[in-house]
Amino acid sequence: MDEMDRRQFIKTLSLVLGAAAVTGTVPALAEEGKAGKAKSSGAQEVYEVFALRYAGPFDMKLAKALNQTGWEENISINYYIWAIRNKDGETTLVDTGTGPTLARELKLKGFVPPEQLVARLGVKREEVTKVIMTHMHFDHVGGMENFPQLYPNATFYVQKSEYDFWVNNPISRRPPFKRSRYDLGNKGLTDLAGGQRLVMLDGDRVIGPDMELLLVPGHSPGLQGVLLNTAKGSAVVASDSAHIARSFRDDMPSSIIADMVTWLKSYDKLRARAPIENLFPGHDALMLSNYPKVAENITKLA
Ligand SMILES: [Zn+2]
Repeated sequence: MDEMDRRQFIKTLSLVLGAAAVTGTVPALAEEGKAGKAKSSGAQEVYEVFALRYAGPFDMKLAKALNQTGWEENISINYYIWAIRNKDGETTLVDTGTGPTLARELKLKGFVPPEQLVARLGVKREEVTKVIMTHMHFDHVGGMENFPQLYPNATFYVQKSEYDFWVNNPISRRPPFKRSRYDLGNKGLTDLAGGQRLVMLDGDRVIGPDMELLLVPGHSPGLQGVLLNTAKGSAVVASDSAHIARSFRDDMPSSIIADMVTWLKSYDKLRARAPIENLFPGHDALMLSNYPKVAENITKLA
């Protein structure tokens, strides 16, 4: 091939490849690369999911957990955070519980600092790479008082609609919402805003292999759950989209409401993505009593 032929050949080749990219007629190379990648990264990721009780038990009227139904009945609830681990020990924490200041102020019964529970599970601090804020109520965001320091390798994930409401919307300071607010916890997030460590999301997002955040508002304006693959199949750490598992079955959310119409649509979404027995609620005592115990205050949900 002389110089002219070579140039013509390159020109023609680039034209063909360019056309292929537009029409999708020669996807062989791309497909090959994709298949090779899938092979090298292995099959589906299978996560283990743990519930860690950091406070409780507390008595509560059933009617508070089940939308005004059962004023005569008392139930027992716990406060939890959750840990999700892959086979390499890489760990995602879901929510931050309550930090030391608020635990002291509230004199929280049965309080164990969340970081002690995480350590009890055998997780090293540097193994925590993600912390998901499901929503910014005090019992979930309170640990932001010290989580960014405790877990230096962690990236934090929150929905923009949730952050905006609790940080910027004056309605969040009025009585029905004020009781769920916790400024010191919110500050832990606002301190990270604009930097690499805080990811603000606008809806659903895949954040890892077989791990997706689902925007499921209702209880709060931007609540999100964590959908993942487990040995039991698809499961969602659904946090306070239900206080108790019965809410998902009875189609009856709790009595702490930002938007009930949206909330019921979120139930449709959750039930479409995982079997109902794999939707893990935010405060159900059964999450501790009905699952295999792996350490004091810790059970394996899936
Ligand atoms: Zn809660």
